[in-house]
Amino acid sequence: MEDCIFCKIIKKQIPCEMLYEDDKVIAFNDISPQAPVHVIIIPKQHIDDLNCLKQESSELIGHIFMVAREIAGTLGIAEGGYRIVSNCGEQGGQTVHHVHFHLLGGRMLQWPPG
Ligand code: 5GP
Ligand code: ZN
Repeated sequence: MEDCIFCKIIKKQIPCEMLYEDDKVIAFNDISPQAPVHVIIIPKQHIDDLNCLKQESSELIGHIFMVAREIAGTLGIAEGGYRIVSNCGEQGGQTVHHVHFHLLGGRMLQWPPG
């Protein structure tokens, strides 16, 4: 998608601190980290948000969670614990409309969210 900032990151038109890439997904550090570890994991395919997922997306989303778990291990937060979040729509706080998952950790995280 042309005007999508995450599609531009995928196409390497915008730089990022890339942590992981394969044929289906990439993961990179969030530009405005909310925790010592704050990684964004996205599919290479442009999907607006969680509402747009189809049954066929199940494998892709499962793969994203496996990648998140692997990154959590690599970055040393697996044992201490972490959180995976996907904001959807206005009330969910989504600002970038390319479906993505936040991997947060490295400090005590508050619950419930504000
Ligand atoms: P959302 O608010 O949509 O759930 O999350 C979007 C996230 O993308 C935010 O945490 C924001 O800091 C991050 N973000 C927005 N633009 C960029 C960018 O150009 N580069 C990187 N690395 N992260 C970005
Ligand atoms: Zn996109």
